Amino acid sequence: MNALVTELVPVKGALASVAFRRSTRASKISLRIDATQGGVVITLPMRASRRAGLSLLQTHEAWVAEKLAALPSALPFTAGATVPVCGEPHVITPVASGFGAAWIDEGRIYVTGGPEFLGRRVADCLKRLARQKLTALTAEKARLAGLSPKCVRVKDTRTRWGSCAPDRTVAFCWRLVLAPEFVQDYVVGHEVAHLRHMNHGRNFWALTETLTSHRQAATAWLGTNGQALLRIG
Ligand SMILES: [Zn+2]
Repeated sequence: MNALVTELVPVKGALASVAFRRSTRASKISLRIDATQGGVVITLPMRASRRAGLSLLQTHEAWVAEKLAALPSALPFTAGATVPVCGEPHVITPVASGFGAAWIDEGRIYVTGGPEFLGRRVADCLKRLARQKLTALTAEKARLAGLSPKCVRVKDTRTRWGSCAPDRTVAFCWRLVLAPEFVQDYVVGHEVAHLRHMNHGRNFWALTETLTSHRQAATAWLGTNGQALLRIG
């Protein structure tokens, strides 16, 4: 999958940012909203034209306009901004110097260096925390179930909070660290259960239940707040 171009396309009188991607695996043209970018992604199979993609966009113009309008507003990492860490508000606080580029303490994310580095340093700090927490939680739950992941990856995925590959690589979206811990607990429990059952059958859910008790609450929370997490940073 690779990005072709991003362009501004009129959608119901407003300009929408549309990214075209070429995919060797796609068999038909598809359209989705990218909450992180606040735009549209059109995936084209190898032989489909950009024009055919735009035509699909036109067909679904009303739906796209509605989805884009409904996106939560973006919350960039800027000095003084409040962002959630494990569901708790933390204020981005620039400081002259300290223990490192950025660190978290008592409701604040401290960050050193010039304003041009701030966004990157806060993001790196949160990704580091995500890697620590999600790796530890995965190891703990896998041990409970007598399973062992090959490795745990933390990525900037846009469409999935977690995934488990057939080679037992478990991956999570770093933005999960912004969500309350019960949400992290559920997503990790769910992916660990996939280490044994690569499906969503009855046995999979039975194992998931033994690894986390937050399925309903976490699913509801992500349904309400998931898009907002993608708009942070
Ligand atoms: Zn699943």
